[in-house]
Amino acid sequence: MASSQLLNSSSLLSKSSSPSSHRHYGCRRLKPSPSIICTAAPSITSPPLPPPLPATYSAKYVPFTSISTGTATSESYSLDEVVYRSRDGGLLDVQHDMDALKQFDGHYWRSLFDSRVGTTRWPYGSGVWSKKEWVLPGIADEDIVSAFEGNSNLFWAERFGKKFLGMNDLWIKHCGISHTGSFKDLGMTVLVSQVNRLRKLNRPLVGVGCASTGDTSAALSAYCAAANIPSIVFLPADKISMAQLVQPIANGAFVLSIDTDFDGCMKLIREITTELPIYLANSLNSLRLEGQKTAAIEILQQFDWEVPDWVIIPGGNLGNIYAFYKGFKMCEELGLVDRIPRLVCAQAQNANPLYRYYKSGWKEFKAVKADDTFASAIQIGDPVSIDRAVYALKNSGGIVEEATEEELMDAMAMADSTGMFVCPHTGVALSALMKLRENGVIKPTDRAVVVSTAHGLKFTQAKIDYHSGKIKEMACRHSNPPVTVKADFGSVMDELKKYLARTR
Ligand SMILES: *Cc1c(COP(=O)(O)O)cnc(C)c1O
Repeated sequence: MASSQLLNSSSLLSKSSSPSSHRHYGCRRLKPSPSIICTAAPSITSPPLPPPLPATYSAKYVPFTSISTGTATSESYSLDEVVYRSRDGGLLDVQHDMDALKQFDGHYWRSLFDSRVGTTRWPYGSGVWSKKEWVLPGIADEDIVSAFEGNSNLFWAERFGKKFLGMNDLWIKHCGISHTGSFKDLGMTVLVSQVNRLRKLNRPLVGVGCASTGDTSAALSAYCAAANIPSIVFLPADKISMAQLVQPIANGAFVLSIDTDFDGCMKLIREITTELPIYLANSLNSLRLEGQKTAAIEILQQFDWEVPDWVIIPGGNLGNIYAFYKGFKMCEELGLVDRIPRLVCAQAQNANPLYRYYKSGWKEFKAVKADDTFASAIQIGDPVSIDRAVYALKNSGGIVEEATEEELMDAMAMADSTGMFVCPHTGVALSALMKLRENGVIKPTDRAVVVSTAHGLKFTQAKIDYHSGKIKEMACRHSNPPVTVKADFGSVMDELKKYLARTR
């Protein structure tokens, strides 16, 4: 560890004395002074690591089918090209030079990643960029646009687990406790950093655009604003929460509110980006998954590199389920761990094309027309990353579950009643977990991690509706409405006595 530490420090030293880096957002504020670097170096407890060889790491785009079928391909693209699809119209994937990464063993990578947690060293203090060699090895540190995302809380859901599931080893990965309040930050820091690099290379990119169910546009506009890059956002009118709508507005994005659903917005932005030099930021774009996969690596790291039995992830466009698979798989391949967890993808019943496909025994995929759901970020009927998700599930002993509106809202309220404040998507994942516990697939002693994808505060209206018991055809069994009382001592005492009798 000592020698890598030294190397990082000295490269930082020389860079912070170059005037250009001082113009870059974030570097100035976050780069510690040389004296802090020296005193913050961890004590030398583990054997010295060989120095990292950044120049030897590389990554490129390849057709996803070459990954999923394990066949060699001559088709590949530099990450500096603006390309979203393979020649035959399929998905792309970022492929790392695994042989270069394999020059070092699992012990090396674990120590390197562990040495960066919680530091302020640019950019390694970020949960994403602490894994830079595995994410975007070729980018210069000063081109990175980061809000020190990641490093999110892996929360022991002790009371929820014991009370509702008879489980003692249940954990929530709070990816939504983040810069813009969802895991989308993890991917967007990578995508916007790469766009920032391309613009510095004088590529004619006038801005970055996305269609969004809310969180993608919030993340895109924040990171673009930080780097002074124009962002353009297509939102389905009346389908996203006020909190989500106000984020891109506040961050200065050009917001188009369009009278269609997410799938309609997606179709339009794809057409527009073939006409105008606007970089497409949807999850079709495989760069984002490189950042999102670090949440999986982080989970292993937070368990001291012990592998949980299950990881449950709510899925809509289905990029994230694959990103988690990829993060876990890389850790296995590079010797940081010796197996990967089983993955569960949880869908809202109102938008469940993957669930139906799974139930058909992977026979026939049919896109559906997604109905309204409180889990608005996964109201997607024709998921872009369907092939990625199927691959991830087949290779991880994966399962797909679904949740009705009532189930997901109940699960959310139950979690909140034990001190959490989760979003409806997390409710979908929790309710999938409850079903898999009930039917015995997940055992009481299993270690399970539920991925919480957004901050609950983005969904206060859904919670208010639930607790006021005003949702049509929903019993709202766990609602906790406020009691209105006259402003006099006797009335307040009466209500309090009734309450205290109930809680005894
Ligand atoms: C984007 C998003 C999802 C779905 O992720 P996919 O990669 O599209 O499956 C789930 N929850 C929240 C809060 C999101 O923003």
